[in-house]
Amino acid sequence: MPIRVLSPELAAKIAAGEVVERPASVVKELVENSLDADAGSISVEIRGGGLELIRVVDDGEGIPPQEVEVAFQRFATSKIALAEHLDSITTLGFRGEALPSIAAVSNVVLLSRPPGEHGGTLVEVAGGKVVRTAPQGSPPGTSVTVRGLFRNVPARLKFLRSPAAEASRVQTMLHQFALAFPQVRFRLEIEGRTAFASPGGGDLREACSSVYGPRTARTLLEVAFSEEGTGSIDVRGLVSPPDLSRASRSYIHLMVNRRWIQSRTLTYALEEAYQGFLMERRHPLAVVHLTLPPGEVDVNVHPAKLEVRFHREREVFASLQRAVRSALVAHAPVPTVRSTTFTASGPTRAPASMMLQGLPSQPSLPLSAPGGDVKAASTPREVVPSLRVLGQVQSVYIVAEGPGGMYLVDQHAAHERVLYERVQEEMRERAPQVQALQYRYR
Ligand code: ADP
Ligand code: MG
Repeated sequence: MPIRVLSPELAAKIAAGEVVERPASVVKELVENSLDADAGSISVEIRGGGLELIRVVDDGEGIPPQEVEVAFQRFATSKIALAEHLDSITTLGFRGEALPSIAAVSNVVLLSRPPGEHGGTLVEVAGGKVVRTAPQGSPPGTSVTVRGLFRNVPARLKFLRSPAAEASRVQTMLHQFALAFPQVRFRLEIEGRTAFASPGGGDLREACSSVYGPRTARTLLEVAFSEEGTGSIDVRGLVSPPDLSRASRSYIHLMVNRRWIQSRTLTYALEEAYQGFLMERRHPLAVVHLTLPPGEVDVNVHPAKLEVRFHREREVFASLQRAVRSALVAHAPVPTVRSTTFTASGPTRAPASMMLQGLPSQPSLPLSAPGGDVKAASTPREVVPSLRVLGQVQSVYIVAEGPGGMYLVDQHAAHERVLYERVQEEMRERAPQVQALQYRYR
């Protein structure tokens, strides 16, 4: 085939693939536009997993009548004008690609009215071309309705999952937004039913409550850390206490300047802070907002804008780790095992209760079950569950993990107990081993 320049329609379809991969990415772009328009309330409706219909309605600043058509042109944006602006982006969108990309792979109807205007304007775009523009009554704000998504891109349709699975991705997306923008009220309707709603009162814990339920939200620990001076980094959010963990990392939400991001480095920093607090293969639940001067973050890495680059990555990493670590330590100070307790001539056996200082949730002695009312001395074998030994401290204590938490076993006491029980058993069988005491006189 000879080299040819692609038709604008085909070029638009190819470019659209980078921005809109599935229904959830359409929702992401439309909600970001609503947020950039300063909306206080955003409602999303989807049908057929978003393939049949996606509608996003906001109460934001709207689009003036003369601009509604331009909004659908590629690289048309009201958010940046000069190359320098790229260095300090404060809006979620800036590439001017979302509306044209969505319109290239679906049928879009946009109805918008800036609060100052008397009426609204409707524009319909099909297959990337404007087919209708007309004045139309509208509440203040903007509504975008997307129908027949990917109908003209069969190759893309093949990669999508079931409507329920796509809907669940949309819901996860809305959760992210609610956690990133607690001051905005979100509502999601799936197949005619309200699937999610956030209060929009501005409180992060309340936003967490709408996503993860009030019980979980109540237990989360507050993180607050601010670096002084210019070029400051501010870390704020809620993280799970050590006794609340998850089997996957999908409960970790990181926001940089209100933008939800995916960052392996920062996720690692967060998990590092939990070292010693969580078991292997368990992960925290966390909603952490990082705020830093916009000039220090590069969001123009990929069209989906999920990745960012930091000018001072190491400092950001350290701030996040320190902030989370101090929240955890303040909640449950790490017990310090001082080697001075143990002398060279032989270990002094400090009472186990002393060793447990600093672990507020575990006041019980090593051989009794936490919370159990059975006396340790009477029937210990029934009380002590099977333990997983983690290690040994100064050849004096065995550190173990059981269903109730951490156990410190005084190994000398345990050994005496084993001998004692062996003797008792022999007594029951009436065949005790006898050993004569030997006295030597001289
Ligand atoms: P970008 O968000 O990168 O600027 P988009 O294609 O998403 O590009 O949108 C193009 C323009 O349309 C935006 O810059 C904005 O001016 C306008 N726009 C889109 N959606 C809305 C909305 N919900 N409210 C107000 N203006 C909007
Ligand atoms: Mg946009």
